Amino acid sequence: AKQQHDSFRRFSGTTGQDSADRLTLLGDLRRGLTDASQFTLHYQPKVALADGSLSGVEALARWHHPTRGPVPPDQFVPVLETTSLIHPFTERVLTLALEQARTWLDAGHRVPVAVNVSTRSLLDDTFPGRLAALLEAAGVPGELLCIEITEHTVMSDPTTTIDALRRIRGLGVKTSIDDFGTGYSSLSYLKLLPVDELKIDRSFVADMVADSSSHALVASAVDLAHNLNLTVVAEGVEDDRTAAALNGLGCDTAQGYHFARPVPAADLDARFLSSVAG
Ligand code: C2E
Ligand code: CA
Ligand code: CA
Ligand code: CA
Repeated sequence: AKQQHDSFRRFSGTTGQDSADRLTLLGDLRRGLTDASQFTLHYQPKVALADGSLSGVEALARWHHPTRGPVPPDQFVPVLETTSLIHPFTERVLTLALEQARTWLDAGHRVPVAVNVSTRSLLDDTFPGRLAALLEAAGVPGELLCIEITEHTVMSDPTTTIDALRRIRGLGVKTSIDDFGTGYSSLSYLKLLPVDELKIDRSFVADMVADSSSHALVASAVDLAHNLNLTVVAEGVEDDRTAAALNGLGCDTAQGYHFARPVPAADLDARFLSSVAG
């Protein structure tokens, strides 16, 4: 725990105030990306609320710093995003996720895997082409991959985002808007976006049972998604009452510590895998 605390202090200067720390971090990231063992993925189940079956998993990056130990993604992803190092990182994450999807397929389980893709990677003109090559190399059908982007990406450049999402969906890959509700995305863009899924941000889900305005926001997001023919996922479900409330609102899918924490693929509960046939 001490080590984690130190790495938090060390790397907390991601706002640009502490540029010496940021440079150290960038150097460590650059070296880390040439090392096959420093970056791994944990997987968190997305669970169908109706019957508890697995609808897919979200891949979440983990960095094992050689001396500082684990560094959470909130501390290093924003730093990667300031440089072109984000591209090899995105490529690494996609490669690992698709290898895992292939491993599950070979074991008889069709597990859709969602990967978070940052603005800079998504908006790179070569991204859809790289994605096609990675799918091909892994031998994974496009529909087993979902690309999660945030509302902030959409609003940073709606036209390029729409074009990129269209090309990605042309590969059969699913698309999802993450952290929905935090980015002030306008309803008119939502209508135009080539997406399959909305993920309601955990800040609203976490207190929806206690707070009536959060509850109202979640209820409207579920209706909005359904009226646009999108699947809706609630993230950050930590207890039974929240799961029941979401089910009552007709929310399709949920994710959170109440169902399962993100874990290495080998530690994923067998009951989840047995609910998805090959
Ligand atoms: P996110 O995409 O919104 O991912 C959900 C975060 O919520 C994860 O944190 C997950 O561990 C956490 N979480 C899941 N269930 C619960 C719950 O019930 N309660 C609470 N309090 N938290 C829960 P994590 O793994 O630390 O990732 C943080 C963020 O880092 C992600 O937020 C995403 O924005 C970013 N990130 C992670 N992996 C990648 C990646 O491979 N690429 C990119 N571009 N970003 C990533
Ligand atoms: Ca996500
Ligand atoms: Ca999220
Ligand atoms: Ca988030």
